Amino acid sequence: MSERNVPIAERRYAAPVPEVPERPLPPTGLIADRRGRRLHDLRISITDRCNFRCTYCMPKSVFGKDYAFLPHASLLSFEEIVRLTRLFVAHGVEKVRLTGGEPLVRRDVERLVGMLAAIRLPDGTPLDLTLTTNGSLLARKARSLRDAGLQRVTVSLDALDDAVFRTMNDVDFPVADVLAGIEAAAAAGLRPVKVNMVVKRGVNDHEIVPMARHFRASGHILRFIEFMDVGASNGWRMDDVVPSAEVAGRIGAVFPIEPLEANYDGEVAERWHYLDGAGEIGLISSVTRPFCGGCTRVRLSTEGRLYTCLFASEGKDLRALLRGGYDDMQIAAAIGAIWAARDDRYSELRSADTAGLRRIEMSYIGG
Ligand code: SF4
Repeated sequence: MSERNVPIAERRYAAPVPEVPERPLPPTGLIADRRGRRLHDLRISITDRCNFRCTYCMPKSVFGKDYAFLPHASLLSFEEIVRLTRLFVAHGVEKVRLTGGEPLVRRDVERLVGMLAAIRLPDGTPLDLTLTTNGSLLARKARSLRDAGLQRVTVSLDALDDAVFRTMNDVDFPVADVLAGIEAAAAAGLRPVKVNMVVKRGVNDHEIVPMARHFRASGHILRFIEFMDVGASNGWRMDDVVPSAEVAGRIGAVFPIEPLEANYDGEVAERWHYLDGAGEIGLISSVTRPFCGGCTRVRLSTEGRLYTCLFASEGKDLRALLRGGYDDMQIAAAIGAIWAARDDRYSELRSADTAGLRRIEMSYIGG
C-alpha cells in the first residue's frame, strides 16, 4: 500500500503507549501539571473527516479526494469515549467539547451526546457538554442534539459575504445555511451560541465589521480568532495574522467597546462588550497575547491519542491501554502521570525556532 493511502495520523504522528504506574493511586480530582495548571477541559475529536475543506485547516491540496481517512475500526467506539471521559472527570475535568473534523458527520452522534450527558461530576452536577461545528448540518440536528443533552454549541463562520465564505470553505457551501443552523440552535435552547471567525489578512479581514454588525444584539457571541500556525499544511505566515488589538480597534471605531472580566480562570477568549448594550464579543489571541499560563485543556484524538497541547507533535496512545486489558485504575493513573508531567506553553515560545516543528493538524485534533 503506498504511503499516500496510509492515514496521515498513522503516517505522521508518533504515539507511544503511556507507562502505567506500578502502584496506581486513585484519581484525586486535583491533579496539576508542572506549571500548576489544573486539568479542567477535555476536547474530544470524534472524527477526522469533514464536509468542508477550509483552506487554513483542511486544504484540498493535502486532503484531496483520495485522502485516506482513519478506518472506522481504529476510531474509539462511543463506549470507549465514555469510559475515558469518566476517568478524566475523576481527575477534575468538568467541561467536555466534542470536535472533529466535523463532529456532526459522525453517524449517531446524538447517541454519544446522550451517553456523555449522563455522566455526573463528583458533586452530582452534569458535565458542561458543548460541541464545535461548521454549522452545515446544525439546522437539521439542533433539536435532537439538545434533546440528547447537549448544552451549548460553537459554530465556525469566517465571513458573511457568500463569495468569501465559499472561497474559505472551498466546497461552495452557502452562508445562509450556516446562519439557519445558528438560529435553529438558539431556538432549540443551545444558548448562548458562540460564533468563531478565523481572521486572515487579505482574505476575510474586511468582513470583521460586517460580522460584528450582523451579530450585534443577536444574543450570539461572536469571537475573532487570530490565524494560528496549527499543523503544517495551512501555509501560516505572521504577515497573515490580524492582531486582536487591531480587530478591537476596527470594531471600536464603529461600535464603541470595552473589556469585560473573564467568566473564569483560563477562559480562552478575552471578553469585550458594546457600550450601547448590544452584547459582547470575544478575542482569541494565541499569537499576540498567548494564554498558556491558564491552559487547562487536554485533547483526545478520534483514535484515542492524548495530546497535552494544540501544537503538540507527539501524543500518547490510550487506545492501546483500553484494548490491552488495563483496568480503570491503571488507565486513570497513566492519564494522571501524563498530565502531571505536562509543561506545554507553545504559544509563549512561538518563534523562528518553532517554525520547523512537526505539529498535529487542526483537522485531526479539532482545535
Ligand atoms: S499553545 Fe498549548 S499550552 Fe498554550 S494555550 Fe494553546 S494548547 Fe494550551
